[in-house]
Amino acid sequence: MFPVGRPDKEKHLNQKARAIWMTGLSGSGKSTIGLELERALYNRGYLVQLLDGDIVRTGINSNLKFSVEDRMENIRRIAEVTRLFLQCGIITIDCFISPTHEIRAMAKEIIGPADFIEVFVDASLETCENRDVKGLYAKARKGLIMDFTGISSPFEAPINPDLVLNTMEMDVETTVHKALDFILPQIILNV
Ligand code: ADP
Repeated sequence: MFPVGRPDKEKHLNQKARAIWMTGLSGSGKSTIGLELERALYNRGYLVQLLDGDIVRTGINSNLKFSVEDRMENIRRIAEVTRLFLQCGIITIDCFISPTHEIRAMAKEIIGPADFIEVFVDASLETCENRDVKGLYAKARKGLIMDFTGISSPFEAPINPDLVLNTMEMDVETTVHKALDFILPQIILNV
């Protein structure tokens, strides 16, 4: 008996599975865009799973903190989970700070370079700190949070991302449109 493969599942879902990997500082807009994008794709008939830092860190990765080693392990597990979704034909939107070249390269390697769409959600540290959506920057400045990206832990902007979404220049709606324009041609199944 032949196993049911990814192409069968993609055909079943009438889509090509891809990982839309959003990287950027805390507060840059990854979750906001991720949620809107998931809804927009769902409304067009696509099956998408959003994977978000806060949810993953209270579930599968609840035993991990923010040291360099734990960040690597966090992303390694997320990338493996993403790979399982792709094998099931499901598009994922991964919203993770994933702060270094090394950590993103590992994710890309595990997921598979051909399936990995790197999206840089770009907003300056100053902008993110002013937004301070969750009050985390204020806490980090007071020294209450260790290893906080941008403050006490590095963020390396991607050198050659597939897509840049500058959330200082665009509102949410425009940003999501730009993302959709880029992603839709890559997930349409041509049979
Ligand atoms: P992250 O997931 O990267 O930590 P969030 O999505 O939680 O960031 O927060 C981003 C904040 O920036 C939200 O308050 C959102 O309304 C605001 N924002 C302003 N412009 C944009 C944009 N173009 N895209 C996404 N978010 C934006």
